[in-house]
Amino acid sequence: MPSNFKDMFIGIFIENSISLLFNALLPILVPLIYSCIKEISFHELLLSLPTYIYIILILPFIIQIIIKYIKSKMEEGKVMHIYGDSNYKKIGYFPFKDMCWEIRGPQMLNMSKEKFISNIDVYDIPRCMECGTKLELVEHNLWYSWKCVNCSFTKRTWYSHDKLISHVQKLSERSLELYLKENNK
Ligand SMILES: [Zn+2]
Repeated sequence: MPSNFKDMFIGIFIENSISLLFNALLPILVPLIYSCIKEISFHELLLSLPTYIYIILILPFIIQIIIKYIKSKMEEGKVMHIYGDSNYKKIGYFPFKDMCWEIRGPQMLNMSKEKFISNIDVYDIPRCMECGTKLELVEHNLWYSWKCVNCSFTKRTWYSHDKLISHVQKLSERSLELYLKENNK
């Protein structure tokens, strides 16, 4: 690991820990400072403060925790997806999260059913369910948006692109297995 990357990582960790700690201590620090300035007892001040003050003071900490949770969810399943080569052809579409995903299968002859199923692939760009146009991915701070340039379709999600593909791959694989089993193919 390059040392500047390590330093950056440690920097981010320290920065986050300090701001988290600061927000967690805010409900105690603010009344404490206030009691020092006004020269009143900290204990008395705590008892006399209305509940909503505590709620306001604890809000930054709660919001920070929620943001951290969303961001970690958005990072989940981010891996390098290896797409199929030119020997793959379209075998159908699979709907997932209101988007239409193209499923591709290997074009090799004499391939067993099991091998074919385990080798199916998902094309990386989904299509619009309304008009069939390829969607565009926009990465926001706290969510991802899939937008259609042809109609007004927009789909917001916390699922990363790789996580969506990985789920579509598993689900389409299973549905193909069931389809072939039911139809004795
Ligand atoms: Zn559309």
